[in-house]
This record gives sequence, C-alpha cells and structure tokens, in this order.
Amino acid sequence: MASGEAFPSSSLQADNLIHVFWDEGMLKHDTGTGVFDTGMDPGFLDVLEKHPENADRVKNILSILKRGPISPFISWHHGRLALISELLSFHTQEYVNELIEADRNGGKEICGGTFLNPGSWDATLLAAGTTLSAMQHIIDGHGKFAYALVRPPGHHAQPTQADGYCFLNNAGLAVQLALDSGCRKVAVLDIDVHYGNGTADGFYRSDKVLTISLHMNHGSWGPSHPQSGTIDELGEGVGFGYNLNIPLPNGTGDEGYGYAVQHLVVPAIEKFEPDMMVLVVGQDSSAVSALSYCSSMFCIL
Ligand SMILES: [Zn+2]
Repeated sequence: MASGEAFPSSSLQADNLIHVFWDEGMLKHDTGTGVFDTGMDPGFLDVLEKHPENADRVKNILSILKRGPISPFISWHHGRLALISELLSFHTQEYVNELIEADRNGGKEICGGTFLNPGSWDATLLAAGTTLSAMQHIIDGHGKFAYALVRPPGHHAQPTQADGYCFLNNAGLAVQLALDSGCRKVAVLDIDVHYGNGTADGFYRSDKVLTISLHMNHGSWGPSHPQSGTIDELGEGVGFGYNLNIPLPNGTGDEGYGYAVQHLVVPAIEKFEPDMMVLVVGQDSSAVSALSYCSSMFCIL
C-alpha cells in the first residue's frame, strides 16, 4: 500500500522503509494433505501432497524478508486479530455467521478445496486484522509502503461467499478502511495468476475503487467463482468502467507483463488519480508455481 497526498508522513526515515506486518499465528491454518487440494486420500499413494496453500509457502517468504537482500530496509510490525464488526465493511453478517458456525462445529470444507479446519478461523481473523493494521499504519502517516504478509489468502473471497482457499477478503477490507478514513479513490492492482474476482465483486458498483487484475485466462471454475475474468466484466451502474480485467495467454513472461502494465495498467491508474494503492501480490504467477502456466513474473515483494 502506498499513500498519496492525503496522508503526509511523519518522518523521512519511515518513508524509506518497507513496513512489514506479520503474526506467526497465521501458520496455524492447517490445510492438510491429499491429492492436490482435494484433501482426499485415495488409499493407494505412499506420499500425499500438501495442500498448495500451506504454511511453508509463507515461511519461505518470511525467511527471505528476514535474511534476504532487502532485510536492511524492513521495519517489522506485529499483526492482530480483526474484530467481527470490522469484517462487515466488506462481508455480509450472514456469511460471517456461516464461518463462525463452521469453526464452532470443528470446521468444514466451505467450498471446493477451501478447508476451514480447527485453528483456521483465528488465522483468518489474524490475516484480516494484520492487513488492516498495515493499512492503518499508512493512513496514520507512519510510512509510504506497508506489506501485510498474511494467510489464508483473500482475493477470491466475495462479500457473500468463500472461494479458492480464501475466506475473508483482506485487500477488500483494507480498501474499505482507506475509504472510511477519508481516501477519495483507491486503486487495486492484483498480479496473482488467478482473477481477483472477490475484490472486483466487492467494488463492482463503485466508482471510488478501480480494480485491475492481470491473470491467466482461466474463466469461471464453478459455483463459488461465477466471475469469468474476461475483458467485458467492466463494472455496473456508477462502477461501470472501474473494473479492468487483463487476461493473459498461458506462457506470458516478463515481457508480456511489462507490456500490459505499461500500456494498460499505468494509463488507467494515471487517469483514475487514486490517493491510495493496494497491491495484491500473490506469487503464483511464478514459473515455479504448480498453480499456473505463466512462465515468469516480476516480483513486487
Ligand atoms: Zn492465485
């Protein structure tokens, strides 16, 4: 997240740092093992795979931030649990109640491959609260750039339903906090290889939030994911023209991403003139990810 003119920062030194928000309680979200993301053991395999959204994924990002080349430029901050009342800026009470109930009953598969297991709900509240803390840090003028390292992820979660390993839309909650704190316009740029359908859905009828998503051309994947991510999903009502979908062919590399950013993303953001940016930086566009067919990707963090 980066602030614009609206929130002057308090010190030059803080401006030059990346403010990373993290809480190890998010590692307690155990998505289990099975065949890919099914959680199923067919009974004839020696080794079951870890669910693709597992704690190791984040542990390695954490170790890179702590011991990698950008570590001297990082200021570390603790995360926190989100309050239930804070979730209602993006999600419906009915849907939040469904998640609370699932946790109370010992967990369940909320939708395909999306397991709310014992420990998952606290981790989910930590992911949301930690993201809100990162946004609040920028709003309060303590820096220009904050990074919330969180799991479970959020960008597929829609106001009324879970989807694609996501329960709560962390970025959507942060956007709403920025708007509620006085930002006039917020731009969201989502570079995860899958369509940021949940975030787009949450602001589909708003002209205060420009949602941009670069993604693999995968279309809808079932009832939890009705959006297709095609170029003709442009928003509705006053929000028409404020959702920009950029589906990319499989195998798109750095050059293709660079071209799309230079010719589509940058002009759209410049025209919109946001006073806050939220970057959704899922790493699965990488050539080494089992979840994509894109060949490589620039890395914001
Ligand atoms: Zn993804």
